[in-house]
Amino acid sequence: GPALLFVKASQGKEEGRRFYACSACRDRKDCNFFQWEDEKVSETRLAAREEYNRNHQPCYTHRQNVGRYKNFVLLPLSKRRFCQECQQLLLPEEWEKHSDHQFLCDITTAQLKSPSQLLYPLENKKTNAQYLFADRSCQFLLNLLIDLGFRRVLSVGTPRLHEMIQSKASQEEEFNVRSLLLDIDFRYSQFYAENEFCHYNMFNHHFFGGEAAHEICRKFLNEENGDRVIMVTDPPFGGLVEALASSFKKLMAMWRETEKEGRDNREMPMFWIFPYFFESRILDFFPSFSMMDYQVDYDNHALYKHGKTGRRQSPVRIFTNLTPSMIVLPEEEGYRFCTVCQRYVSSGNQHCEICNSCTSKDGRQWKHCVLCKKCVKPSWFHCNSCNCCALQKHSCEKTDTGCFVCGKAGHKRSACPSLS
Ligand code: SAH
Ligand code: ZN
Ligand code: ZN
Ligand code: ZN
Ligand code: ZN
Repeated sequence: GPALLFVKASQGKEEGRRFYACSACRDRKDCNFFQWEDEKVSETRLAAREEYNRNHQPCYTHRQNVGRYKNFVLLPLSKRRFCQECQQLLLPEEWEKHSDHQFLCDITTAQLKSPSQLLYPLENKKTNAQYLFADRSCQFLLNLLIDLGFRRVLSVGTPRLHEMIQSKASQEEEFNVRSLLLDIDFRYSQFYAENEFCHYNMFNHHFFGGEAAHEICRKFLNEENGDRVIMVTDPPFGGLVEALASSFKKLMAMWRETEKEGRDNREMPMFWIFPYFFESRILDFFPSFSMMDYQVDYDNHALYKHGKTGRRQSPVRIFTNLTPSMIVLPEEEGYRFCTVCQRYVSSGNQHCEICNSCTSKDGRQWKHCVLCKKCVKPSWFHCNSCNCCALQKHSCEKTDTGCFVCGKAGHKRSACPSLS
């Protein structure tokens, strides 16, 4: 889809030079598209680009994949193979072509219902960054939104949540929640019909399936029969908040436009799952949001794993525009309700009388600094030359421009300690 317009800031110059680059791949190794805004592009170069794009399309369209799936499930277990190298379900006539590839045999219906387990997670940090919810967190999210009365979930970059909903819907008769997955990972088109999955880029709000896919999404957002919709998204953490926010606003607008009356001033309910150090960036774009203390855990993210011994705390939180007091966090995991703040907080999060709020962001108990007039991390000390609190061994650097990720001075986004 469309590229994004960036600006290359250069020192000493007021205005940087603007250029277009790929919206989804922040690593030039993944996509080397680059074009100065004011650059003239020759016919031959345009043609070469189009040629390149034509040659890099997926082998099958979504529709074709749906047809293949129908044939695949008719096969006896012994003939159901999945090529691990091509990440593709194979029909018997294709075995030959993949004969020197690794493959899995006897693919069961259960496996087909949990594609996120069958496919390997794309861990490329800068592009896909697929970090899958731990079962505990996924179950928590699903129960939470059901308890809140939602019956439809727009799953944007949350394949595992989508899969949990889909598989419950097919197994339990009373389960009446529906989900539509929007994701850039086209491998999922092998497992879901066109009204269950749209190939979508959340950095530029691009539906690869064109108007038809748009319409599927629009239909889904239309709350006929009073089925209330919530959007749940868990974007790659390296993603530009600005680009994401702009897409999410467009999805919210789609929701708003599905109904003529009554929604003018309302926002589509949303859970945006993202690390706590992006709080101020998210609030810049969505002032109605608040950050919940719940720590979202992942399966394949070593750092963020939940465990009794030597637990590394997950920095990932839920940002929502729903009333915080309605988001009930599990008491058995130590969360408690703060009556002053009117929200659930983590066990270590003490209510600060001076700030008049439960101020911890990372779950540890924070301490109040009278000079900074706010609570800070327990490991920080007030530095008189910087005139703010920082780690004891910080270097008193002065840079004007803060990091794009955490907003702090002294480093750039690529070197942000929050991300490493
Ligand atoms: N925790 C979630 C997965 C989050 S990982 C779960 O378990 O369901 C981030 C997800 O965003 C991945 O599924 C990835 O494919 C998707 N993604 C990455 N870049 C994207 C983009 N530009 N547009 C849409 N989805 C994207
Ligand atoms: Zn293969
Ligand atoms: Zn409080
Ligand atoms: Zn305080
Ligand atoms: Zn201080």
